[in-house]
Amino acid sequence: MAFDYDLFVIGGGSGGVRAGRVAAQTGARVGLAEEFRMGGTCVIRGCVPKKLMVFASGYGPASEAARAYGWDYEGGTFNWSRFRPMLHRELERLEGIYRKNLGGAGADIFDARATIRDPHTVELSTGESFTAKHILVATGGRPFLPGTPGAAELGITSNEVFDLDAFPERILIVGGGYIACEFACIFNGLGAHTAQWYRGAQILRGFDDEVRGFLAEHIRDRGVDLHVGLEVERMERCAENGRDRIWVKGTDGREDIFDQVLFATGRVPNSDGLGLEEAGVKLGRKGEILVDDYSQTSVPSIYAVGDVTDRINLTPVAIREGAAFVETVFNGNPTKPDHENVASAVFTQPEYGTVGLSEEQARDQEPIDVYCAAFRPMQKSFIGVNERVLFKLIVSQATQKVLGCHIVADGAGEMIQLAAVAVKMGATKEDFDRTVAVHPTMSEEIVLMKTPTRRD
Ligand code: NDP
Repeated sequence: MAFDYDLFVIGGGSGGVRAGRVAAQTGARVGLAEEFRMGGTCVIRGCVPKKLMVFASGYGPASEAARAYGWDYEGGTFNWSRFRPMLHRELERLEGIYRKNLGGAGADIFDARATIRDPHTVELSTGESFTAKHILVATGGRPFLPGTPGAAELGITSNEVFDLDAFPERILIVGGGYIACEFACIFNGLGAHTAQWYRGAQILRGFDDEVRGFLAEHIRDRGVDLHVGLEVERMERCAENGRDRIWVKGTDGREDIFDQVLFATGRVPNSDGLGLEEAGVKLGRKGEILVDDYSQTSVPSIYAVGDVTDRINLTPVAIREGAAFVETVFNGNPTKPDHENVASAVFTQPEYGTVGLSEEQARDQEPIDVYCAAFRPMQKSFIGVNERVLFKLIVSQATQKVLGCHIVADGAGEMIQLAAVAVKMGATKEDFDRTVAVHPTMSEEIVLMKTPTRRD
């Protein structure tokens, strides 16, 4: 049977665009449908605008530090109405690049919603339909909003946060994951009075326990009014000093008033209404598409990559999954995306970079040595800022391999990328010790920790 396309991709985000572009470069006929904007969550309403806001939020504290370092400098306030158009111009530029690169590789782009009609047919919201030998679903995820009374009408999510008309004087962030912690630090750094309420006992569940406590302390010290064991019970619109505001009641009985309430309470796979189950594609409990090691679904002609599969929900992972899919299906070289020792960074202030196992995960696996150094770095101690950085290595007693590396410091996202190369290569503690320090840096500590802080 002759198909219209060799590959039809649904979703123009990180995973879909990479797969579509690389497949087209092999000579395959590729179509891709995106219902919103090319670039997906990462470019349009995730990593990229978030990181630009992280940069913006660093200049307030940096200008205070500049004064402490002897600069005669009068600080100002953050001007959202000046920053917002700049941010959106940059996103438009990046969206254009994505579109150009994919089109330039020879793929057809459809600005439409696609649904699956059968294992080889997609139907577009424009009324067109196409047959394809392979269909790749790369539709990502979307924010999950809990059923808290008032949340659906008055709350915002990370989808809306980059489009706010006015900069909030007072903001409440709900949640304790990556997105909640990052936006708490961003708004705090930009000068908003920022509260963060998290339902559990400590933020960043699943990460290294020692780091979670350390980071929570530093987030509070930087000015975020962080409360754990606290949820929103209900919220209502109210007026205060002639302004529309939001009255919020907490589960401990407290009441407070905010301009915005940002729910960062997790994300769910975008698998609804795509015709997946009708076509025979099996979904998991959260609606994630179930795939094998090669990203193939229960229907052999349909594959899925990225957040819609809910494996490791990170842009670079989706990109690798997309590339491995093309290698497997179009280059005849079965390739599994590698989900081992994926490094990531939480862009809080200070940042947290991590690769490999937490102390708790490692200890469950085997006897370990833990090396940990927490100290005031020179740049901060010189001006009397009482903030520490943390460097931590988790080492297998049997093999001396470094099983996990955790860094909390300004710039930890950049540092962990490099440490991740060593961990991925299977470096031992001895390899770290043999490496001569770069002096004076804070990260030299990673090669200078001689005695275990804890031994099993
Ligand atoms: P996370 O899963 O990291 O965090 C969700 C948070 O919401 C948790 O604290 C969770 O609490 C809380 N929560 C869930 N349901 C409710 C509820 N009903 N009421 C109150 N709180 C609730 O999700 P995020 O949305 O922060 O991020 C999604 C994913 O995106 C991340 O896992 C990550 O993979 C990716 N990401 C990566 C970034 C990076 O690399 N820097 C940045 C941003 C996102 P509990 O812990 O108790 O379940």
